[in-house]
Amino acid sequence: MLIEIAGGAVCAAAGLMAYGVRSRSSTLFAPSVWRGAEDRRAIALTFDDGPSEATPELLEVLQGEGVQATFFQCGMNVRRLPGIARQVAEAGHEIGNHSHSHPRFYLRSAAFMEREMAQAQAAILEAAGSAPALFRVPYGARWFGLGGAQTRLGLLGVMWTAIGLDWKLSAAAITARLLGRARNGAIFCLHDGRELQAEPRIAETLEAVRRLIPELRARGFHFETVSQILCPTN
Ligand SMILES: [Zn+2]
Repeated sequence: MLIEIAGGAVCAAAGLMAYGVRSRSSTLFAPSVWRGAEDRRAIALTFDDGPSEATPELLEVLQGEGVQATFFQCGMNVRRLPGIARQVAEAGHEIGNHSHSHPRFYLRSAAFMEREMAQAQAAILEAAGSAPALFRVPYGARWFGLGGAQTRLGLLGVMWTAIGLDWKLSAAAITARLLGRARNGAIFCLHDGRELQAEPRIAETLEAVRRLIPELRARGFHFETVSQILCPTN
């Protein structure tokens, strides 16, 4: 297990070198990737803020299409719904860490960030059976000390190529927005939860995913997890 994670991390690091996959804005706070390899017509769908009561319906859509995605889960949601976190892992999707309580990291101490990340690692390990290798910071807001915490926990930061704004847009608008940003190696950010809310409404996200997958396939894309899109041997 540890060897696999280390191998993935090394490969991801090689990916950084090979593809120039660097933080979109700044590498000051922590190293992170925002897209994968550009030599394959692949897209990674990612879903943040779960697991939620709505996640099983999304899993059904993905299973129906034969798509593997990546879920950045919050530790507190995993503690609330461990069975759904396990269901995500058992369906073959990748699980990443999205902090424990979904706080803003801006202006927070390194110890605070590391505790949030470590609590989520523990919750996901317990529920899903393995600890994540990927981390997505809440609100995309990085801060000093995040890089050290990521390194100590063996986590690679993952931002996104395009974000669906699916908490406020209609299914048609989300679909159009992401289709317009589709390119080789793109990482798309969507949501199967709303921070720590119970029973979030994600109907627009679900409908957008139902529309997006066949549209992207028609344009020649296939789907990979974030680890796969960073490094095809993962
Ligand atoms: Zn989030």
